[in-house]
Amino acid sequence: MSEGIFCIRVYGCQMNAYDGDRLRSAMTELGWEESSDAFASDAVIFVTCSIRDKAEQKVISELGRFRPMWEKDKKPKVALLGCMAQRTGADIAGKFPWVRVVAGPRHLGLVPRSIAESMNGGVFMHLDGDAGEKMDLECAPVPKVNPHKAFITIAHGCDQFCSYCIVPYVRGRFASRPPEGVLAEANRLVNRGILEITLLGQNVNSYGKDFDGDAGNYRFASLLRDVAAIKGLRRLRFTTSHPLDFSDDILDAMKSCPNICPGINLPVQAGSDKVLREMNRKYTRDQYIDAVKKIREALPEVGLTTDLIVGFPGESEEDFEESVSLIEETRFALVHSAAYSPRLGTPAAKREDQIPDAVRSMRLARINELQSRISHEINHEHVGRVMEVLLDDAAPKGKGLLQGRTVTDKVVLVKASAEMTGRFRSVKITGASPWCLEGRLL
Ligand code: SF4
Repeated sequence: MSEGIFCIRVYGCQMNAYDGDRLRSAMTELGWEESSDAFASDAVIFVTCSIRDKAEQKVISELGRFRPMWEKDKKPKVALLGCMAQRTGADIAGKFPWVRVVAGPRHLGLVPRSIAESMNGGVFMHLDGDAGEKMDLECAPVPKVNPHKAFITIAHGCDQFCSYCIVPYVRGRFASRPPEGVLAEANRLVNRGILEITLLGQNVNSYGKDFDGDAGNYRFASLLRDVAAIKGLRRLRFTTSHPLDFSDDILDAMKSCPNICPGINLPVQAGSDKVLREMNRKYTRDQYIDAVKKIREALPEVGLTTDLIVGFPGESEEDFEESVSLIEETRFALVHSAAYSPRLGTPAAKREDQIPDAVRSMRLARINELQSRISHEINHEHVGRVMEVLLDDAAPKGKGLLQGRTVTDKVVLVKASAEMTGRFRSVKITGASPWCLEGRLL
């Protein structure tokens, strides 16, 4: 007999997608049925993001929509999870009485039981700083988004305290998951037919630095090698890396294990030493450029991407021009750019020299235009090449088109039937835009 109907809404990053998959698996294993209709559900689970104000406002507006139904039927009960829950969940539960479970990212293991108990009344708060037990969910997620690819979180939290970032406050201090748990999860996923795994963490290359004694010798490179050795795993990726900890042993592992994909996201965040210092990034522009050189020497085919913030408080025109020149010189495959958005509780948000919205938007548009040209040029260089592509889904636009990824994580669109999903195919690249490649199956 079904325990009830639940619906899950996931906002934000890949770590949230992974948490959403794990909760979905745990709820289903407990006998709940999933629905995509929140208004037909007994429980609605929100996995939330705090990285930007917009993401939080969207959840608040969604929560407001339950009022009429709650006043009539006292349904659905809502579980608010993740970073926003950790930051403001207690206040939100005070405003929206249908929010019955609030849990920060490190307490997901307590959520399924609390949701079940909330059906009989009561409000359950599981937040860092509580005396209560902290518990992660140790179940292998059944990936919802794609049956061929899966994520595994290998570390929680972050110790870097970049001055603009809310993560250390909402996800807590850096903590690596024991390798046994990660490897068991990876094995279970590969046995279920998963072809590609992405290891996730705010700072994956610090993995293991918090292990004591001899276990402290087991670092990210060791984990990469052990996961890569799982029979049947065709592709292994990881994100995100911090430029400070990108050590030679990681490059050695990438060179010697053919299924570790040569794709690296190495966030730079700014091109000016002054801004980098004020962001508390702990490296200089030159040190970053040296790290890029080292990576490109070791892995000439690497697909290198970055994250960049424009309009950080106090960013002058000259500082911004240094970001522009860094993008021009480094020629990343992709830049995840964002205008600075103040997050309450972070040092940067308290600064008085905030940059006006209009200037931030103008700088963002300039970076996007520049990067669009560079990405187009880089993609164009692939035309005529034959590349191995994992066809993993229907293309979002275009009838009869499938999309896939190369080892360097480039999106490729090809004409192919739906039965081809989940297959590796050789594709001849026939066209390029700034955002993707087009190709023909060989
Ligand atoms: S390293 Fe990343 S997650 Fe950690 S504080 Fe800096 S920006 Fe935030």
